[in-house]
Amino acid sequence: MSTNIEWVKNKDGTKGESWNPWQGCHKISTGCRECYMFRDKKRFGQNPNKVIRSSAKTFEAPLKWKESKRIFVCSWSDFFIDEADGWRQEALEIMGKCSHHTFLLLTKRPQNMLKAFKDVGTPDNIWLGVSVENQKTADERIPILLDIPAKVRFVSIEPMLGAVDVTNFLGNQDAEQDTSAHAIWRGEIPGIDWIIAGCESGPGARPCNPDWARHLRDQCVEAGVPFFLKQLSQDGKIIKMPFLDGGKWDQLPGSIVSKKETVHEDASKVEKPTYREGDLDKFIGCAPGLTEGLSAREYIDNIHHNQEASDEKTTET
Ligand code: SF4
Repeated sequence: MSTNIEWVKNKDGTKGESWNPWQGCHKISTGCRECYMFRDKKRFGQNPNKVIRSSAKTFEAPLKWKESKRIFVCSWSDFFIDEADGWRQEALEIMGKCSHHTFLLLTKRPQNMLKAFKDVGTPDNIWLGVSVENQKTADERIPILLDIPAKVRFVSIEPMLGAVDVTNFLGNQDAEQDTSAHAIWRGEIPGIDWIIAGCESGPGARPCNPDWARHLRDQCVEAGVPFFLKQLSQDGKIIKMPFLDGGKWDQLPGSIVSKKETVHEDASKVEKPTYREGDLDKFIGCAPGLTEGLSAREYIDNIHHNQEASDEKTTET
């Protein structure tokens, strides 16, 4: 079934699909508090805590889709929930038979993702992601994801409930380093390939400060990692694909050549991020300031410079 999730797009920009071989889940952290699946299932008189296998028609649906699609798996569950242990292999075999599709697996249970792929490897048509909501869950879940080799590894920070520092996971050379971060920016361990962020929506949504999105955007630009800002709340309304400082951030994996391809152990010798020519056009479309010939870094520096100048002016008066 096609999905309205903005970051699940086919290569040609059309809507991607969602596929639910099973449904139902259990809340495991504060990010689950307003889970839409719980809300919708209750509305239909169903028990959201009961994990049930879908019909054979739904379970095998990707086999019927002949055109290449990007498919978000388990929008109404968690692909790595324990109750699905007996069904997961069958679902993975279907993905294996569908090399023309790309499957996006997003989980709050990365320890089970690690178990599933650590010995067998991750097929190229499966992208692996973790869902986090604050610094604590980022620090718990992202390192596990980084232990699993995969063509694309991504992090969804939605609902974004606080500022999240991901520099150590992106390979930013300016970060306070721990052993694993050193390895990431030396290129021994590739970092996260894509960051998605968005505020909470629906009744009971908790507040989200746009500065948290700015902070994430700046970290991504610095590291040369694609950033996708799905939604922010403005004046009590949810704005999909909002402008942030005049720019729209809808980057997908592969749109930027990451700085980690050009890193050097000596931070002072680290080169600026580089961009593929064709992809720069896409990036320019995302951030109007870049049409003036600025690099992404210069664009962000300009925003900060203008902000500081405005702050100084306010202080003076
Ligand atoms: S893990 Fe996802 S699907 Fe499961 S309860 Fe939490 S938000 Fe809902």
